[in-house]
Amino acid sequence: MSSTLFEKIINREIPADIIYEDELSIVIKDIQPQAPTHLLIIPKKVIPKLSDGLEEDKETLGHMMLVAGKVADLLNLDDTFRIVINNGAKAGQSVFHLHLHLLSGRSLNWPPG
Ligand code: AMP
Repeated sequence: MSSTLFEKIINREIPADIIYEDELSIVIKDIQPQAPTHLLIIPKKVIPKLSDGLEEDKETLGHMMLVAGKVADLLNLDDTFRIVINNGAKAGQSVFHLHLHLLSGRSLNWPPG
């Protein structure tokens, strides 16, 4: 049985708008988009949060970054996007299965709130 929400999506137990998948990762559209393009890049390995990543997760973590660039290319995001990782509840993390947010399609302020 799957436990995290994203495992359920990976295992097709609940639906999602999947835009890319490979052996290590899946990319879906965020259900509550905060920008015209808002994707979630999710490793198939369950790492609850970035700070739980281990040396042995190096390939998975690097792969997520490469996938972010790849989907930005696929979607013609004009090399203009922001990657966000919320690490821990106080930083805004609500799903404890590591994921990158990819946001694009509008002006993005700095610093973020
Ligand atoms: P975070 O708050 O950083 O853990 O991000 C979790 C993200 O998952 C939020 O942006 C949610 O909108 C998104 N989310 C929650 N449930 C779903 C779902 N069923 N399909 C797609 N995205 C989801």
